[in-house]
Amino acid sequence: MRIGIPKELTGHRVALTPAVAQKLIEQGATVLIESKAGAQAHFSDADYEAAGVQVADRATVLGADLVATIDPLPDAELAQLRKDIILISQFRPYEDTAVAERLRELGLSAYSLDMIPRTSRAQSMDVLSSMAGVAGYRAVLTAAHLLPRFFPMLITAAGSIRPAKVLILGAGVAGLQAIATAKRLGAQVEASDVRQAAKEEVESLGARFVEVEGARDDADAGGYAVQQSEDFLRRQREEVQIRAGKADVVITTAQVRGRKAPVLLDAETVGHMPAGSVIIDLASSSGGNCALTQDKKTIQVNGVTIVGNSALADTMPQDASTLFANNLVNFVKLLIQDGKLAHNPEDDILVASLITAVGVSG
Ligand code: NAD
Repeated sequence: MRIGIPKELTGHRVALTPAVAQKLIEQGATVLIESKAGAQAHFSDADYEAAGVQVADRATVLGADLVATIDPLPDAELAQLRKDIILISQFRPYEDTAVAERLRELGLSAYSLDMIPRTSRAQSMDVLSSMAGVAGYRAVLTAAHLLPRFFPMLITAAGSIRPAKVLILGAGVAGLQAIATAKRLGAQVEASDVRQAAKEEVESLGARFVEVEGARDDADAGGYAVQQSEDFLRRQREEVQIRAGKADVVITTAQVRGRKAPVLLDAETVGHMPAGSVIIDLASSSGGNCALTQDKKTIQVNGVTIVGNSALADTMPQDASTLFANNLVNFVKLLIQDGKLAHNPEDDILVASLITAVGVSG
C-alpha cells in the first residue's frame, strides 16, 4: 500500500506532516512525498525522511495506490493517473456540481473529505471544522492587527480605553472560535446565527446572542443552516444594521452549503459603521456576507477596512497542515483492512464521502 502526497499547487499547506505520516507507516503503509511539498509549512524533506517517508518526484508520488491532497489535482493531471488509484481531496461537489461526473469519465475513484457527515464519530476526520477553527482564530487576530484601537478595556494614568465591540455573524465552527478568541483578547462580543442550537453555544462562550424571531427550522439539515425566508433575512439585516453601527469589528462566517452566502451587511450598514472599524468576511469565496466584499482583496470604504478572505487557514500553514494531516490519517485508517486499501460499504463515513466509485473494492 503506497500513499502519495504531492505538493499543493496553491497555498502554503501540505496534506501530511512528518509526525503524522508516522501513524500511516505504523499501519504498514509506504508513504511518498513530493520533494519540497512541506517547505512552505516549515516541514523540510529531511524532516520527512527522518520520519520514514520517502521523498520522491511528482510523477512517482502520483503513481501511488492512494493520492491525497488538500485541493483537487488539476484535470490535466487527473487524466494521467492510473485508473485503479484512490483519490482523497476536498472536491466540493456541492459547488463544483460536475466534478463527480468528470472523475467518473476519467475512470477514477474519489473520496471527498468535505462530504463526511457532521457526526461525533466523524469529528476526528472533519477537515471543514479543522480549517474553520483556524480561520476563525486568524480572523480575530487579523482584525485586531488592522483595528486602530485596543481590544481589551484599559485603565491607565493617561486615561481609560473602552473595550472593542466585536460582532460575529454566523456561529458555526469558525464563528465560535472567533468568539472565544475575541473574548480572550478582552473584547465585548455579540453573535448571531439562524440555527436554533447556536444560542446556547454562543452564550456558553460568554458572548451575547442577537436573536431574530422566526428562523426556519433546520432539524433535518444534518447540522447545516437552511435557506431562510426573505422576510426573516430582511428583519435579520435590520437587527444586524443596528449592531454593526456600533461595532468596531464585524467577522462574518455565515454560509448555506451549496448556495451563495447570505448578504447580511449591505452598503448602507457599512456606511453606519465607525471610522476605523474592520470587517473580516470569511464567506467571501461564496459571494460574501458583506455586499461590498471583494474576494481575496482588502479594501477601504469610507474609513472601514473590508477583508475578503475565505482562505485564512492557509496563513497558519504549520498547524493547519497538522490538523488536516490528522483528519486525513483518521480517514485513511477506515480504508485499511488487513494491511490493504478496501472500501467498507457498511461505513456511513466512507459511503457519504465516496463521490465516484470506479475501482474501489469492498
Ligand atoms: P457553515 O460554515 O456551513 O456556516 C457557518 C454558520 O453560518 C453556521 O452556523 C450557519 O448556521 C450560519 N448561518 C447560515 N446562514 C446564516 C444567516 N443568514 N445568518 C446568520 N448565520 C447564518 O457551518 P459549519 O461551521 O461548517 O457548521 C455546520 C454545522 O455542523 C453546525 O451546526 C455545527 O455545529 C455542526 N458541526 C458538527 C460537528 C460534529 O458534530 N461532528 C462538527 C462540525 C460542525
